[in-house]
Amino acid sequence: MSKIAIIGAGPAGIAATVQLVRQGHDVQVFEHGRIGGTLWNAGMVENYPGFPGGITGRHLARLMEQQLFDYIEKIIPESVSSIKIVNAGYEISSEIFEGVIVCTGTEPRKAGFPGEDELADSNLLFHGIEFLERWHGEKEITIIGGGEASIDMALSIFEAGMKPTIIHRSEPRGIKSLLDTAKAEENIVWHEGVVKAARLHENKAVLALENEELAFDLIIIAVGRQKTLPELIGFDIENLPAGFLIAGDAARGGLGQTAMAVGDGVEMAMILDNYLRNKS
Ligand SMILES: Cc1cc2nc3c(=O)[nH]c(=O)nc-3n(C[C@H](O)[C@H](O)[C@H](O)COP(=O)(O)OP(=O)(O)OC[C@H]3O[C@@H](n4cnc5c(N)ncnc54)[C@H](O)[C@@H]3O)c2cc1C
Repeated sequence: MSKIAIIGAGPAGIAATVQLVRQGHDVQVFEHGRIGGTLWNAGMVENYPGFPGGITGRHLARLMEQQLFDYIEKIIPESVSSIKIVNAGYEISSEIFEGVIVCTGTEPRKAGFPGEDELADSNLLFHGIEFLERWHGEKEITIIGGGEASIDMALSIFEAGMKPTIIHRSEPRGIKSLLDTAKAEENIVWHEGVVKAARLHENKAVLALENEELAFDLIIIAVGRQKTLPELIGFDIENLPAGFLIAGDAARGGLGQTAMAVGDGVEMAMILDNYLRNKS
């Protein structure tokens, strides 16, 4: 039995953990956000086998969380900022692990206009819809971005009983079935324009576009996601040492899908298990 750290409890981390515990290892899972990861942003997931008719990202995240706790008792609710290679393995938060699988996924990109951080500090601007269930009533919400994630989030917001406006600067794009569903929904408002700045005014978030100002209860930024990794000390991403693996969107970037992350998690777990067995 080896002591292994899994960083991140999204689909990749959960799949890797289940596999490694089944193989008899002592697994510690670090997760600084919501178990289920980016899935909390996904509306209807139609391409994950086993759920005819699809399943919402939120429902799938809850099921995965349930399954994780069939195999471990608790997670470590910490952000892993760095991983250092040492003689006996890898040091994380002053503990030594013989193997590590980094499953930290992606983080949302910022839009970069003035006022974005101030509105985020006032809880009027978010970079995702992880906490959709906390927003109640007939809130007018705008999603900035014309890509697939933005359209998907608009549908989730509409289905939760709120009125979404998508602000896009070019022709909205996304997988055909999603785009067709959103375009057919007359309560989703499409607004072409470029946001130049944002400010707080009488509890509303006011967006300045080229020639107009628009006020909303909440702003969601959906302008893409990028890989996120802890700092690596004593080694680098181009030459990963044995016993250190990366799985899921953290390896693939923003183009990954849940089934790919799960597949990666299981595969990296099996590679790590094989390495640790041969080592001992
Ligand atoms: C709007 C939207 C819709 C989507 N729709 C679909 C769909 O229909 N079908 C589909 O298959 N996929 C969909 N996806 C993609 C899917 O959600 C991802 O591919 C999948 O969640 C990737 O899993 P992962 O485990 O690699 O990463 P993530 O799910 O991103 O999980 C990473 C986890 O690591 C944690 N973490 C990060 N850094 C640290 C750290 N330093 N310390 C501790 N914890 C950390 C994070 O909090 C997170 O929980 C969608 C994504 C979005 C945004």
